[in-house]
Amino acid sequence: MNLSNPSELKALIGRHGFSFSKSLGQNFLIDENVLNKITESARLNSNEYVLEIGPGAGTLTRRLALTGAKCVAVEIDKALVPILNESMAEFDNFKLINNDILKVDIKKLCAEEFDGKPFHVAANLPYYITTPIVMKLLEDKIPVKSMTLMVQKEVAERMCASCGGKEYGALSVAVQYYSKPHIICKAEPHCFIPQPKVASSVVHLEVGETPSVTVNSEKKFFSVVKSAFGQRRKTLVNALSKSPYMSVTKEDVVQALSGMGLDENIRGEKLSLEQFALLSNKLG
Ligand code: SAM
Repeated sequence: MNLSNPSELKALIGRHGFSFSKSLGQNFLIDENVLNKITESARLNSNEYVLEIGPGAGTLTRRLALTGAKCVAVEIDKALVPILNESMAEFDNFKLINNDILKVDIKKLCAEEFDGKPFHVAANLPYYITTPIVMKLLEDKIPVKSMTLMVQKEVAERMCASCGGKEYGALSVAVQYYSKPHIICKAEPHCFIPQPKVASSVVHLEVGETPSVTVNSEKKFFSVVKSAFGQRRKTLVNALSKSPYMSVTKEDVVQALSGMGLDENIRGEKLSLEQFALLSNKLG
């Protein structure tokens, strides 16, 4: 079975009377090259575990399972269950969970399915859940080793952006606090059935055992980051001192910035991850 062949994919879903749902972000990947790149980047073998989010008809899932890794896929759409039962029938290293990934207790899933061991995540993500699911996986102290994700091109660029540019924001800082992200490849709309309106990119996040920088309080660090980017056009001094997420005075921020050798008119987007960490430690 080769589901990257559009006729085979259409025949499979046609046998089950399946029709695509726009609201569930159902754009199925049919590009061999991109499918290979996702599978290679996930670096799987028979000793590894992988969680796939949104397997669709099983095109990527089959490739993940062929590596020998134990593969668990969480799919929200009940209509895809009989399709996946057919496309994944030959694999005994595969388990399907029919649920909304945002409602799944992933720590429990890891304990039950992966013996509590660190696992990889691979997904051609429905775009409407990209940020919540990525942040849930990063923030909840779940033992994720890496994530290889198809996301909207601009989101991939925001995840990987360095300070100073217009793509750099709270998502960049949060993703880079927990992981080292890099873009693997682009995927144009013609790589999918049906074609989405926007271009996509595959991004790989190598998740560290410890965060990339040391902070005294994660809560404080993320309040500083949220405040700095919540009011992008304000100087950092104004954004932090007027923030609903924290209570610091203008003088506190000016003093902390001057201790770091930074101008008091600087904006948040100019601060690197390391400087955000230092600033939040000074304000703590
Ligand atoms: N992996 C398949 C592929 O590459 O061809 C399908 C990818 S499609 C972009 C996204 C998939 O995620 C769909 O199968 C959709 O039903 C599923 N999905 C959407 N929202 C979900 C959610 N909250 N939890 C789990 N799966 C979801």
